[in-house]
Amino acid sequence: ADQAMYAAKNNGRNCCSYFTSNMRKATETRSRIAYELRHALREQQLFLMYQPIVKLATGSIHKAEALVRWQHPERGTVFPVEFISIAEESNLISEIGDWVFKQAVNQVAAWQANYDTNFQISINKSPKQFISRMSDWVDHLHEQKLDGHSIIVEITENLLLDVHELVVKQLLNFRDAGVQVAIDDFGTGYSSLSYLKKFDIDYLKIDQSFISNLDSRSNDRILCEAVITMAHRLGMKVIAEGVETNSQKQLLIAMGCDYGQGYFFSKPLTTENFETFLQHNAAIN
Ligand code: C2E
Ligand code: MG
Ligand code: MG
Ligand code: MG
Repeated sequence: ADQAMYAAKNNGRNCCSYFTSNMRKATETRSRIAYELRHALREQQLFLMYQPIVKLATGSIHKAEALVRWQHPERGTVFPVEFISIAEESNLISEIGDWVFKQAVNQVAAWQANYDTNFQISINKSPKQFISRMSDWVDHLHEQKLDGHSIIVEITENLLLDVHELVVKQLLNFRDAGVQVAIDDFGTGYSSLSYLKKFDIDYLKIDQSFISNLDSRSNDRILCEAVITMAHRLGMKVIAEGVETNSQKQLLIAMGCDYGQGYFFSKPLTTENFETFLQHNAAIN
């Protein structure tokens, strides 16, 4: 019996040290990634891909979402799921956010000049990013002689829930400059709708989890229809995320959804491939 107890204790100890060493490894990995990421910013290893946002009724494209990627020298292309949350633990997220914004501004200026004067680029803003930088962003847009409408900022619902007075003020200033605001991943946050009364929101992006089973789940169809009706009555447009099939697209058109984004239309593309895609799309529409 003594021996069994000893074994159990020993086991317990092993199990604990196993966990601590695993946790230590995870922490080490995260700080290594944070270190490399700081380097990546300086070395210009980050780049943006663009995914078309398609006007469902006509098939035309006047908007794209910018999605950040990291060209890692050894690991190849690294996706945001692997580094955004790490960047959020430090000031790095604001630096990345500033970089993404400036990059998107340059790109939208080029596409407005060469393709469509009303072209818009949508960027993602982390809730951890300092909102105070947004007034610098407005200044930057003015310096570039760009209309505020050139940029859409995507935020998640959670950002608007425990709204600090300052956040509200900054957001309103931002909208005063003409910048548009979209709620990303709509329907997945702490589903409170109260913020829709307080803020002038331009777009709701219905999360792809409501779109992927649109053909088979009547509940998802009912929810999408309700969201579209509500959005339109409140003066907002709706973008469906993660549209992967023609039948999803057809259902969304029948529901009066304004825009679609997803692999059915196109995966996120490099600048060059996006331009080719635009030309091709313009030719068939
Ligand atoms: P998100 O803003 O909801 O972006 C949509 C994500 O869904 C993108 O993943 C996109 O590639 C993917 N997607 C688009 N269409 C489809 C589809 O038809 N099917 C499926 N299965 N997926 C589709 P990605 O690029 O890996 O980005 C993931 C998330 O990382 C984004 O979600 C966004 O929250 C965040 N993110 C991306 N870029 C930035 C950035 O510049 N700053 C910040 N703060 N976050 C970013
Ligand atoms: Mg987004
Ligand atoms: Mg989204
Ligand atoms: Mg999403």
